[in-house]
Amino acid sequence: MTRAKKFKLLLIVQLIVTVMYKMIPIELTYYMNSFFIVGMALGAYLILKAIVYACPNCGKHQIMLGFFKYRLPTDNCYVCCEKIDS
Ligand SMILES: [Zn+2]
Repeated sequence: MTRAKKFKLLLIVQLIVTVMYKMIPIELTYYMNSFFIVGMALGAYLILKAIVYACPNCGKHQIMLGFFKYRLPTDNCYVCCEKIDS
C-alpha cells in the first residue's frame, strides 16, 4: 500500500471513530470512552504525519501547504511528480 493510500485510509478510520463517538450518549467520564481515546490518539498521529509528509526529492510538503491550506496526498509529488512511497 502506498503512503498516500495509507494516509487516506487512516483519515476514513478517524472519521468513523468520530461519528461513533458522537453516537454514544454523553457521560461524565467521556475520556474513558474507548472511541475518545482512539480518536484523540489517531488524530494526534495524523497531525504529526501531515506535518512531516514531504517529497523525498524536492522536500515540498504534500499535505500542509500553509496554515489554512491543505490538500490530500497523491502517489506522486505535486511539484516534481516524483513517486512517493514507503
Ligand atoms: Zn517533489
